[in-house]
Formats: sequence, structure tokens, C-alpha cells
Amino acid sequence: MRIRLGNGIELDCGKRILLDPIKTQVDIPSLISHAHSDHVPRDIKNPRGKIYATEGTASILRSRYGADNVEIVHYGERTSLGTFDVYPYPAGHIFGSSGFLIVCDDVSLFYTGDINPYGGLTVESPARVPEVDVLILESTYGNPKYRFPDPQKIRIHIAKWAIEEVSSGRSPVIEAYLVGKSQEIIALLNRYTNLEVVVSEPVAKVSEAFKERFNLKFTKHSDGPHVLVTHRAVGEDKARVTGWALFSKRRGDFPLSAHADFDGLVNIAVSSSPTKIFTVYGFRRELANWLKKWGLDAQPLGGNWVEL
Ligand SMILES: [Zn+2]
Repeated sequence: MRIRLGNGIELDCGKRILLDPIKTQVDIPSLISHAHSDHVPRDIKNPRGKIYATEGTASILRSRYGADNVEIVHYGERTSLGTFDVYPYPAGHIFGSSGFLIVCDDVSLFYTGDINPYGGLTVESPARVPEVDVLILESTYGNPKYRFPDPQKIRIHIAKWAIEEVSSGRSPVIEAYLVGKSQEIIALLNRYTNLEVVVSEPVAKVSEAFKERFNLKFTKHSDGPHVLVTHRAVGEDKARVTGWALFSKRRGDFPLSAHADFDGLVNIAVSSSPTKIFTVYGFRRELANWLKKWGLDAQPLGGNWVEL
């Protein structure tokens, strides 16, 4: 088996597959780890090759992009694609997100996609990671300054902030990413407050894919006191919910992330017992350097083919 970074992550084992490609290719299967736009092929509506994803990812791709041509793969079940055997693992990042265990020629490889070992309120489960020969590790927060507080503590802070705002006569606005984070906010407000949750039109559209599975309660209009959840808010009073808010001192900035933090990534790197680690996305060089310093064989994945 050989690997390179090109059209997404490309694997060749006599036949080829693409992981999170930029565009699909004729006669080459594409595996989509989750429905965030930077992992979805640009030609998702009219793909040139077959697309494979979990049921959750397929339902978001349908509600957001109108894509109705996705072949379903199931957590823990084998799908054979040419010379490869593929097994999806829950990634805990957003609904439907999955890592892929991929086996060919006695070499086992695990691609994390975007991964969250702590899970959330609108995911199937926290991430699970198998032991493998080769690990392809996302590195969004692969820098030791990113160590997140207990996510449950942040959820409670967000709920308390919203209740205080409404008690003061305001209708608070929470800004969060359209896919995944907005639904986490709806779920935590449903669970920890009695506030009415109003969402913007785009958030409502994406949330349809989550609604039944996670019993989300929201509306598009309210004349009474409410919290508004939207992915794009104007004005300074809004709350912002993202891991990048970790060092912000601004009231209303909450560092609730859908990714592993630095220690979470190191945990995955060690516990999957790989002989070789390739880092991708975000702080990939920093993370590879730290792992190398600690005696692991790690490097950022590059554009040249590497034999495994
Ligand atoms: Zn993502």
C-alpha cells in the first residue's frame, strides 16, 4: 500500500481510494469522514465516482447539499472497495462523523478524519480508535497551548449565560458553526434550560438531519423571550462558541470544541500503537515534531507517494 496527500488523501494498493477528496474521480471510490465543507468533494451533487459515508453524514449531505447519491457504510461493519477492506469507527466530532480503518496487503491504517474523544450531545458516541500499523492523525489543535477545560463545565456556563441574558430582558444570540456546533447548542439549551430556542433558516435546514435522532426542540419564530442560535450574527453582544475562543477574555466567548485537544491527539497517537504516524490539517508540523521528540515515528503527510 502507498499513500500521499493530493486530491484529499490518496491510497493505492493496486486499486485506489480517496479519503475526503477535493473532487471525486471516475472509477475511484471516495470515503467521506464527515459533512463539514472542507471534507466534502466540490462535485458532491454530481459526482464522477462513488461516494461512501455513514448514515448520519449522508443525511446531512442530503439536507445541506441536496446530495442523494451516497452509498451507506456502517460503524463496525466491513465494506470491500476494490483491494481495500474498510471499517468505519465513530469519531465523536459531529453526527455521522467517522474514522476509517482500512486494510490491504496485511497493512492496517486508520484515518481519524476530524475526531473528538470526549464526544458530545449530538454525536453517536465518543471516538473509538483501533490499534493499527499506520495512523493518519488530524492536527487541528496539535499545539500544546490548546488544552480544553471540561466540556460539561462549558455547556453549563453557556446555559447560565443564556438564562441570565433572558432574565435581564434581552434575547441573546449565540453564534456557532452551521453544521454540528449549532445543533450542540440547541441540545444543551434543551437539556439544561427551559428557554425557547429560535434558529436561523440555514441552521433549521441543517438541523432537520439531527432533529429526530437527538430529539432537538427549536422553532424559527417567537414573539416571546428566547435564545437565537445562528451561524452568522451581527453585533457585539453575541456569544461565540468555538475551541479557538480558549484564550479570549470576552464575556460570551465559550471554548467548546468538537475536536480533540493536544492531549487528546497525543492519547490517540499513543493508544493506537502505530509504527508510523502521518499528521494532516492544522498544526501538523508542530504535532509531528512533538511526537518525534517523544520517540514516535511521525511526519506531516506530503505530496510524494510513501510506501507503507
Ligand atoms: Zn470537521
